[in-house]
Amino acid sequence: MAMPDKEDFCMPRKVFSPNRVLLGLILALLTLTAAEAWAEAAARQQGVIGRNRLYQTFFSILDSGRPGPRVLVQAGIHGDERAGVYALEQLLPRLRVHSGLLIIIPRLNPPALAINRRYYHLDLNRVFPGLPVPDPYEYALAREIYTLVKDNQIEYTLTLHEARTLHSPRRDKTFGQTIVYGVEPPPRLLWRWLQALNQHLPLEEKFLHYYCPQEYGATDVMVRELKLKGGFAVETWRALDLERRIELQKLAVLTFLKQVGLEFSQQ
Ligand SMILES: [Zn+2]
Repeated sequence: MAMPDKEDFCMPRKVFSPNRVLLGLILALLTLTAAEAWAEAAARQQGVIGRNRLYQTFFSILDSGRPGPRVLVQAGIHGDERAGVYALEQLLPRLRVHSGLLIIIPRLNPPALAINRRYYHLDLNRVFPGLPVPDPYEYALAREIYTLVKDNQIEYTLTLHEARTLHSPRRDKTFGQTIVYGVEPPPRLLWRWLQALNQHLPLEEKFLHYYCPQEYGATDVMVRELKLKGGFAVETWRALDLERRIELQKLAVLTFLKQVGLEFSQQ
């Protein structure tokens, strides 16, 4: 009878060899990474507004799958107001949402952005809640945004704007460095948000609150008709450097998300 050679006696020990343990760890890690990637993809979906239309634009839904506030942030409603667009494009790939739901539309009005003007045919911020007509496209676009907010049970909206003039309470239609609302009374979180936003800003960059209703404005129509908990416009002053305005827009968005209790992290 042949005796097992030395190698056979060593077999059981090979199962626990460092190489196999390492391989197992790598496999486990790969499986975990794949699971995380799947969960990440499930939590981040892209949608389209106006498919194959002149105004086609994309949005992202960051859904934590957990209860929490439901927020929509949009920029580029006016085509010559760029800081908010860049702010959202920079934030979007880095944000992870851990409670509630966040919809981000970085380029709300592509035709106006393409020509770098406030509007293409009509001021998009004066035609809400829109109409189901093809022309001019601003009516249909407004309608789609309104429906998106309604269908996703959005509770808060932020629209990112830019202003040519610095706000003065004595001068009408001066928007620079303000948080604008148009439905009274504003939610109490406005005061906490302003305090958090301003606490580290120098005097010339501090945001003021400004009550300025727009009967057919995006924010006011949705707050009024869809009974949102809050809706605001963030206005940065264009005399500041673009880079600084982008940072201020990002700061305004992130401090707002914290105030409404949406949990998130940045990668
Ligand atoms: Zn604007």
